[in-house]
Amino acid sequence: MTEKGLVLIYTGDGKGKTTAALGQALRAAGHGLRVCIIQFIKGAWETGEAKALQAFAELIELHVTGSGFTWQAKDKEEVRQTALAGWRLARDKVLSDDFDLVVLDELTYLVTYGILAEAEVIKLLAMRPPRLHVLITGRAASAGLIAAADLVTEMREIKHPYKIGIQARKGIEW
Ligand code: ATP
Ligand code: MG
Repeated sequence: MTEKGLVLIYTGDGKGKTTAALGQALRAAGHGLRVCIIQFIKGAWETGEAKALQAFAELIELHVTGSGFTWQAKDKEEVRQTALAGWRLARDKVLSDDFDLVVLDELTYLVTYGILAEAEVIKLLAMRPPRLHVLITGRAASAGLIAAADLVTEMREIKHPYKIGIQARKGIEW
């Protein structure tokens, strides 16, 4: 019997959303669940997770999409097109029935920036294989996404070293 897959959202302005999603992916993979992670905001550096996951390529499929930090981008149309290409990839992976867990890391930004309609995400969640777990991360998850989820955790910032001028640290932030 197939059990119903869950929709999980990690949101909020505190640190820990992506790293919690990676921990979840690791836990699932350890039990033989087939995992695909799609990261929507490609940063300036190669992240530690991308490097480490090369060693787990058999267990966890990773796709890094997007064209850098959206708010720094000069060519908005290029950002939009790259993000939409990432979204099409996400749709294919969700509908492929090849996975038990699909992580859509920083997907909320596509909705926040008006690149992708919230309704499109909700439609895909409804169409997914019933068994599939989907985990979405990103700040400011919209009300409709929250309503569609089974589990929502908010990371709330209490302290962050950035606030006192400490720059992003290799191995901690990226
Ligand atoms: P992480 O990837 O460390 O789990 P995150 O996914 O929760 O963090 P994002 O909102 O995706 O955080 O932001 C990405 C980057 O911004 C990370 O380098 C993260 O450490 C940093 N960051 C997260 N929260 C804050 C904050 N409150 N102030 C400044 N930088 C932050
Ligand atoms: Mg993140």
